[in-house]
Amino acid sequence: MKFCPQNYRIPDVRMQPFIDADEIWNYLLHTPSSPETVEQVIQKSLAKNRLSLEEVAILIKADDEKSIQAIKDGARALKNTIYGNRIVLFAPLYVGNKCSNNCLYCGFRSSNIEQIRKTLSDEELIREIEALEDNGQKRLILVFGEHAEYSAEYIAHTVRIVYGVKKGNGEIRRVNINAAPLDIEGFRIVKQAGIGTYQIFQETYHREAYKKYHVAGRKSDYDYRLTSLDRAQEAGIDDVGIGALFGLYDWRFEVMSLVRHANHLEACYNVGPHTISFPRIKDASTLNIDDRYFVSDEDFARLIAILRLAVPYTGMILTAREPESLRNELIQYGVSQIDGGTKIELGGYVEKEFYHELNKAQFRINDDRSLNEVVDELLQQGMLPSFCTSCYRMGRTGEHFMEFSVPGFIKRYCTPNAMLTLAEYLEDYAPAETARKGWQVIEKNLDDLDEKMRNSVSEKLGRVKKGERDLHY
Ligand code: SAM
Ligand code: SF4
Repeated sequence: MKFCPQNYRIPDVRMQPFIDADEIWNYLLHTPSSPETVEQVIQKSLAKNRLSLEEVAILIKADDEKSIQAIKDGARALKNTIYGNRIVLFAPLYVGNKCSNNCLYCGFRSSNIEQIRKTLSDEELIREIEALEDNGQKRLILVFGEHAEYSAEYIAHTVRIVYGVKKGNGEIRRVNINAAPLDIEGFRIVKQAGIGTYQIFQETYHREAYKKYHVAGRKSDYDYRLTSLDRAQEAGIDDVGIGALFGLYDWRFEVMSLVRHANHLEACYNVGPHTISFPRIKDASTLNIDDRYFVSDEDFARLIAILRLAVPYTGMILTAREPESLRNELIQYGVSQIDGGTKIELGGYVEKEFYHELNKAQFRINDDRSLNEVVDELLQQGMLPSFCTSCYRMGRTGEHFMEFSVPGFIKRYCTPNAMLTLAEYLEDYAPAETARKGWQVIEKNLDDLDEKMRNSVSEKLGRVKKGERDLHY
């Protein structure tokens, strides 16, 4: 019988709420922080050690300019030395916006009668996927409101449809999910459809604040949501994504809680979250919420850098909610995945004309670049855009942890797979100028590999140029 640190017996008692607001506030209010202790904590993280809640509090409480800069520099150094210059690209695909919850911040909430409700038919879904494949996408996250129509069986059905659509050289090789929490049986059903990550954001980890924003429907049950990814683990889904919606409550509390949640999953299931997301509240149809806890750009950069140092072995996702210039800056602090060519209106990848109408979307995005514009910009900065889906398909779960902890893992798998998937993109979808830049970046990355790997990757790149696809390590 395994035990969690809280001594919860597995499996039943493990599904207990694990956020103790008093404990978190106690750390935040009473942990002393100085430039010296901040530096010590940064060094501990750079030496590949995980940080305790107390150490995270030391970083959060640092509010002098020098310490904040040191935290950002530390996060940048960690990203560069451990993860290198890869950025994984994906796109969200909204399948249905019916919702029986009434989350006050969300355009899909049940009381918003201005929202035009829609669930894509199977045919519409197929057309959206074809449009995404025509753009060069290989990784999707399917997004759903919470509604009786969006059962586990229905979600599994849509996942199977996505994997079945192949257009030209296009195919979707990894389907992640962002949908309502399921019961254990429901998670089993979606797992069988071959999903990648199941992502559920707690929105706010503060119970009282949570109550205020979630006034109706199943989502008003804080505990059911908090323990949802435990149920996913119980159902055999060990690839889960956590997140908080920044702007609902004090960002310091949310950062501590995200770390606490990561620790909980790791302690109980031996595997931390695959990814952490940190959306900030954006304008939404008939949005009317108090801006008291809204997070400034400066604090946002700070909290991303702190999260990078706190959970150095977890993937971090930054979405098109944020504008291009800010995304370019924030990527430096350790973001590993971004979306590109994003459309969040139902049917938006085919029906381009209703772009930016709030009554057809959950919120407003602020980066509406095409996938190719995003790829081009990354290449311009010397980064290596990646469409890799290899670990998941080769059965290597926990890849972020392996990237972090297994010496040589990135050079053996991640960089070569990034180069091969980028090469496919350049051959099949990129305009000539992007292709030129892309091949230069591939050449540069080839030079940095050892001789054996360089020869092997060069041989595979040659085969990609001749038309072979889906070569990976
Ligand atoms: N309905 C499912 C649920 O609530 O778990 C799926 C999630 S929802 C479609 C995706 C996420 O968008 C939410 O979890 C929330 O964090 C975020 N979101 C909602 N309203 C937002 C807003 N106004 N601005 C930015 N993000 C928002
Ligand atoms: Fe529905 Fe999710 Fe929006 Fe809440 S956040 S109203 S559950 S779609």
